[in-house]
Amino acid sequence: MIAYRLGNSLYLNVTNRCTNSCEFCIRKIADGVGGYNLWLEREPAADEVVDAVGDPTRYDEIVFCGYGEPLVRLDVVKDAGRRLKERGARIRVDTNGQANLFFGRNVVPELEGIVDAISISLNAENAEKYVKLCNPVFGERAYYAILEFAREAVKHIPRVTLTVVDLPEVDLKACEDIARSIGAGFRVRHHIRS
Ligand code: SF4
Repeated sequence: MIAYRLGNSLYLNVTNRCTNSCEFCIRKIADGVGGYNLWLEREPAADEVVDAVGDPTRYDEIVFCGYGEPLVRLDVVKDAGRRLKERGARIRVDTNGQANLFFGRNVVPELEGIVDAISISLNAENAEKYVKLCNPVFGERAYYAILEFAREAVKHIPRVTLTVVDLPEVDLKACEDIARSIGAGFRVRHHIRS
């Protein structure tokens, strides 16, 4: 399933790859969300993504997400996102914020003018806790890269939100303070338990 509707938004599943293996990842307990199977047989090309949307103005938002980390497919997000935006879409990306580390360069300016909103998973108030919760392939460097990615995002993307999952071990107030200090919004996501 490439495109699936939840509420008034259309979600685009462009990859199953991710640089994390979060303890709370829904992929560990389910094959998808909303009754949709989100394991891809292969990653879709930009043309397929655009075709799967149809008329984007039927939705409040078109959201690049996963079942995985969408920005590992940066070129597809940029190409399909630009074409959908030209057709009137509002574009959001839900990301783990590690794209600059993944690509070895600052990719955030490349999203300017395409992406209207970005949700970045902060998930913890420090690097040590982040590693315990998210098992990033990059280790603690991932956490510092996320903070830097968020600082870049507020320069180039109109609406930036840092998010955390409501786990008891996470200091939500400290995470909110980090988000505010960067100039981003803050949102708590509900943990879906098995
Ligand atoms: S970053 Fe998202 S997709 Fe990746 S493992 Fe964590 S919750 Fe799952």
